[in-house]
Amino acid sequence: MDNLIVENEIPDILIKWYNQNKRELPWRNINDPYKIWISEIILQQTRVIQGRNYYLRFIERFPSVKQLAEAEEDEVLKYWQGLGYYSRARNLHKAANQIMTQYDGNFPKDYSNVLTLSGVGVYTAAAICSFAYNQPYAVLDGNVYRVLSRLFGIETPIDSGAGKKEFQKIAGKLLSIENPAEYNQAIMEFGALQCVPSSPNCENCPLISMCKAFELQLVNVLPVKSKKTTVTHRFFNYIFIQYNETTFLQKRTAKDVWQNLYEFPLIETDKLLTVTELFQNENFNSLFRDVNEIDIVQITNPMKHVLSHRVINAQFISVSISGLNEKFKSLIQLEKSEIDKYPVSRLMEIFLENDMN
Ligand code: SF4
Repeated sequence: MDNLIVENEIPDILIKWYNQNKRELPWRNINDPYKIWISEIILQQTRVIQGRNYYLRFIERFPSVKQLAEAEEDEVLKYWQGLGYYSRARNLHKAANQIMTQYDGNFPKDYSNVLTLSGVGVYTAAAICSFAYNQPYAVLDGNVYRVLSRLFGIETPIDSGAGKKEFQKIAGKLLSIENPAEYNQAIMEFGALQCVPSSPNCENCPLISMCKAFELQLVNVLPVKSKKTTVTHRFFNYIFIQYNETTFLQKRTAKDVWQNLYEFPLIETDKLLTVTELFQNENFNSLFRDVNEIDIVQITNPMKHVLSHRVINAQFISVSISGLNEKFKSLIQLEKSEIDKYPVSRLMEIFLENDMN
């Protein structure tokens, strides 16, 4: 029994492990809530290595809430280009304006006020309040769920209402009241580096003697998730128009994937179109109504772009035309070299890098 580690020793063990193993990252050892907020939003769906460079560029261009709020949304999206989940960038911009108007430009300190910011949920609010202000709010991200479910052998699905409550309770009980900032970062880093999803480093784990999952051989089973993600397929036929050295873009304004990014005119169908089907397609014919010469110059091979719940199947159809109609007035006409000024999806970017010469 002597060497059995008791529950209340866990925070100190994790903090000790953290101080020996933590990665040096630009958002570590700072207490600026603005920078912590930006880093947390970037890291929500992005790996640390990729997120690091985006964070540095973003902070360099928008070093304060004020500068972020004053920027155009297009520019904020441009700095986000390639990171995906663009609602994060739109919400950052919205929340920066919220802070300017509701809090006089000062980042709120109160947890419930932080929670009112656009795009900030309980995880991010807890991270900001604990990392920046050392307030006792326990963070629960994917890494923490995994560590807790294994340590305590909890089989309740982490994505169920009951699971969320149960884990929140344990996380709160475990939180180091003296040092919530360091403890929260420690358990997250422990999940990211030591207690990783597959093949965790149990042999060298300082918590092995109290780990239920290890004792019961459940390491590969925990944490449990109840919902299976259903993936839908969508089919995008992009029309890359060539007219007198210019082309055309439009803004995606609908509440949908890539909202407010720019793209070539799009015909969405239930499968990718052949040339024959294209000339029979109502939207294609409507786009080019009264245009006499329409040449299909090239069609790319089908491209697959995988998002969290969707697969976008796409092809880019280069179409050369001899004249314009009224429809084109609603599009942005520009030289190809100017496309770079607009925020576009990674899919568009890949096409532009490979096929536009
Ligand atoms: S023993 Fe293995 S499963 Fe348990 S906490 Fe340590 S790394 Fe995670």
